[in-house]
Amino acid sequence: MYIPRDPDFMAERAQYALRHCCEDCVFFRAAEQPKQGSSERALPTAAHHCVHGWPNAEHLQAHYDGAPDLLVFCKEFEIP
Ligand code: SF4
Repeated sequence: MYIPRDPDFMAERAQYALRHCCEDCVFFRAAEQPKQGSSERALPTAAHHCVHGWPNAEHLQAHYDGAPDLLVFCKEFEIP
């Protein structure tokens, strides 16, 4: 869900250390990469992604740190 940039939200985000980005969501996990030539469990990599497969580039902390024109909220955001 997109909404226009709101200066009040940006100020309160910093003031109250709001958690609203993928990095704080239970569905943001390390990507797994299968071990080559092995049937063992896949190993996590350093890359993280949304386990639902949402295109979340605009919902990452770095996007908000860049002062975006639009705010993006994910309806599935869930704090662990
Ligand atoms: S469910 Fe939403 S908030 Fe959570 S990781 Fe996926 S895109 Fe980000």
